Amino acid sequence: MAMLKTILGNLLRPSRTRDPADMPDVPPVYRGALAHDAARCTACGTCAFVCAPKAISFTQDPGVSVSWHFFIGQCSFCGLCAQNCPTQAISLNADVPAGMDSAAGDGLRLESVVHLQPCTRCGAAHVPLPDATMAVLWGTEEAERGYCPDCRRWAASARLRSAFVPAAAEEVHHER
Ligand code: SF4
Ligand code: SF4
Repeated sequence: MAMLKTILGNLLRPSRTRDPADMPDVPPVYRGALAHDAARCTACGTCAFVCAPKAISFTQDPGVSVSWHFFIGQCSFCGLCAQNCPTQAISLNADVPAGMDSAAGDGLRLESVVHLQPCTRCGAAHVPLPDATMAVLWGTEEAERGYCPDCRRWAASARLRSAFVPAAAEEVHHER
């Protein structure tokens, strides 16, 4: 009897096509296509490190930019990259990203370019950190927002030194 009910239920169900407009709604926790926000990315490499099938990789234009690459053909949609990204630059959603939905390329790859900027203290090209990240990591010191990682380390140790050696505080002030 149960089987008959299932068969009748299936026969009476409206048919569906493969047209995107005819697709059923996906649940909110659905892990679909990846999106990457270059403005949040610090090119730390964590997403590529945790991706077992190696769907994420990087290329560099030295001194100019770092490019984040994603190949959907190797993605298992496990969500580990989004889960481990420290700045929430990656998201998995139900949409097809524009770059993968177009005739450009083979439609299977995403590329996102993170532009480097010169350090305001030493001039070294580096990946700028998002403002919100800077505020958490380095406080709101305006002077340090444009520093490269080496200069930020220098500034942090100089502050520490000045706390112990009062004369160093004056030295830090002059070195800036
Ligand atoms: S997307 Fe996130 S985890 Fe990947 S390199 Fe950028 S900041 Fe790091
Ligand atoms: S969802 Fe999983 S398999 Fe796909 S890119 Fe992210 S870590 Fe790799």
